[in-house]
This record gives sequence, C-alpha cells and structure tokens, in this order.
Amino acid sequence: ITAHWIQPLGTLFTSSLKMIAIPLIISSLIVGVGGLGDISTVSKFGKRTFILFISTTICAITIGVLLSNIIHPGKGLSVETKNKLLTTFSAKVEDNTKKLEASFVDGPLTPLVDVVPENIFNAFSNNGSMIQVVFFVLIFSIGLILIDKSKSRPVISFFDGVNEVILKLIDYIMLYSPIGVFGLVAGVVIQLPNFDILLALMKYAATVLIGCGLMLLVIYPALIYFITKSSLYSIYGHFRPVQLLAFSTSSSSATLPVTMEVSQEKLGIKPDVASFVLPMGSTVNMDGTSLYQAVATIFIAEVFDIHLDIWAQLSIIILALITSIGAAGVPGAGMILLAVILEANKIPVQGIALILAIDRVLDMCRTVVNVTGDMVVAYIVNDKTKEENYGKA
Ligand code: ASP
Repeated sequence: ITAHWIQPLGTLFTSSLKMIAIPLIISSLIVGVGGLGDISTVSKFGKRTFILFISTTICAITIGVLLSNIIHPGKGLSVETKNKLLTTFSAKVEDNTKKLEASFVDGPLTPLVDVVPENIFNAFSNNGSMIQVVFFVLIFSIGLILIDKSKSRPVISFFDGVNEVILKLIDYIMLYSPIGVFGLVAGVVIQLPNFDILLALMKYAATVLIGCGLMLLVIYPALIYFITKSSLYSIYGHFRPVQLLAFSTSSSSATLPVTMEVSQEKLGIKPDVASFVLPMGSTVNMDGTSLYQAVATIFIAEVFDIHLDIWAQLSIIILALITSIGAAGVPGAGMILLAVILEANKIPVQGIALILAIDRVLDMCRTVVNVTGDMVVAYIVNDKTKEENYGKA
C-alpha cells in the first residue's frame, strides 16, 4: 500500500521541485549576475566561493578520516554478516558499476572537459548537468555585463519576470510539502533493512553521523561566527526547512529552489551571490558526501583486512574531494562514485555491497550537510561582499 499509494505522493513533490530547478537557475543567474555593474565583482566572489568550497570539503573529509581511525567502524563485523551482506547486495553493486562506467570517460581532465556542454539544449534537459547549465548561463550573463545597457536591459527584465513567476511557484509547491515529505519518508521506511543488519552496521553509521553532526554543530557555526560575527542561532533557525527538504528528498538539486528562496528571503543573501554560489554548490560543494566517502572507504578496507597507510589515507582525501565535486546532487550519487576511490586504493569494489543496506538513510543525512554547507558559504560570501561595498562607508 505504501509503495503504490503513499510513496508516489512524495515522488510528485520531488518532481515538482526538479521541474523548476533549471528554469530557476537560468533566470536567477541572468538577473543576479547579468545585472551587476562590472565583471570584477563576479571574479571577486567567485574566488571566495571556491576557496570556501574546497576548504570546507577538505575539513569534512579530514574529520571522516580521523573519526574512522578512532572508531574503526569495520572492526568487529562478523564474517557471517560480511558474507550475508556481500551475497545479498552484489547484484546492486554491479548495477552501480554499470552506471559509473556509463557516466565516466577515463582521464584526469574528464571532470573539467565535462563542464563545457556540447549542446546547451541537452544540458538544459538534464538535471544531472547542473554544472554545465551554470557554466553556460554564467558566461551568457557575463556577456550581458559587457554589452551595451540598452541591449542587455530588455533581456534582464524578461528573465526578471520569469524569476518572479518561478519564486511564486515555489511558494505553491511548498504548500504541498507536508504531504510530499510524508510520502518520501514513508517510502524510505518501508525499504529499511531488518534489525540485525542495522545493528551490524551501527558502528559504521554512527561514524558517518558523528561526522555530519560535527560539521553541522561545530564547524559551520564556528565559521559563521568567526568570519561574519553574526548571531549564530538566528541564522541557523532559517536553515531548518531546507534541511528537512534535503533530508526527505536526499537530493541537493531537488532542494535547490527552496535553498535559493530561503537564502534570499530569510538570510538576506543578495540574488547575485545566491544565484552564483547555490546552484554551483549543489553539485560542487558536497561536504557530507565527501565525509561519508572517506568513512565508507576505511570501513570497507577494514572489513577486508586491508591496511591503509598514511599515504593511502591522504589519497582518500584528494580523491574524495574530486569525486564529491563530480557527483551530481541526486540520491545515491556519492555511493556510485565511491567505486573510484576504492579502485584507486585496490579495495574490492564489491565491498560497496556491505554498506548498501543503509545507504539511503545515510544519504538523507549527508544531503542535509551538503545543503547546509552551500548556505553557509553563500552567507559568508554575501557578508564579505556587503562589507566591501558598504562596510567602510
Ligand atoms: N544525495 C546527495 C546530494 O544530493 C549526493 C550523495 O551523497 O549521494 O547532495
């Protein structure tokens, strides 16, 4: 009954959010960035954004590696449970490997090459190509800054109207959110594995959850407090609806429309900063995903009795950084790319079967960290830009 009558109510909700994600990115980036007076502002907050994206991700992965070295999530898993998990989920792992092969062309520069779309309409028609959409719309918007104002103004005001319509639609879609969230969570609950599997993987799950908790309750609040000197709790309260949505959809991309709306209307982030940082962050900045990838790699290595020396652990930090940048903001993306880190460290990719049973639940939690990280970066970039423009007056 749940699968046929309740879960679809959740799917309907996620689809409505995904439906407006690409039009929202297009209209808000054009209005936000195209409306800027000069191009130096874009490059200034562009630099800040990337520094913050990379440093928060490295911090998250380091937390994951350190916690795994303290807790040793894979020690103590019985051979019986290991074999049971491997046989039950091996077919799904093969499925994953196929997906990975389909989405990957070998070569270190592939992620860079993938940023530029061959055909913009292909990119616009695929929510997984968010980064390509952002790239095209960003250079289009920069083009608008560079041409004559009499030519750019009508384009910007057209997209301004489109943007208003999309924001109105988000309000209506959110009225449906209590039913949508219920449908989504009910769908997850019926897929939970039985209790003894949950118990066996508890140490692993706890390591990921403690890491996510540290990011949410220590690292982000500290960053906001020390960099912007803002009152922490007044801001954090506004994050909640976005976090709840990320938790129930397990998708940064599906959450994006609401992340954008809350950031601008509740956190006071200017449209140019929000429209630049947030769509990019939904695929590039995945602190929760990278932390989870580090813990999962060490967990699987421990179960297979593979020793990871300090160099192997450093390589996990670099690879988790790259793969989390490459992962799309959709459910399960982080797990598919986990295979890359495992292969690089000569850990059997089949080991993913060990964590599959509880991956969806952990996906919900790491997505909360992912979207919170995006909002924190947007908040800080906005604060610094504001300070530069008006602070010294
Ligand atoms: N579900 C995550 C997100 O959308 C990605 C992942 O970790 O699988 O942000």
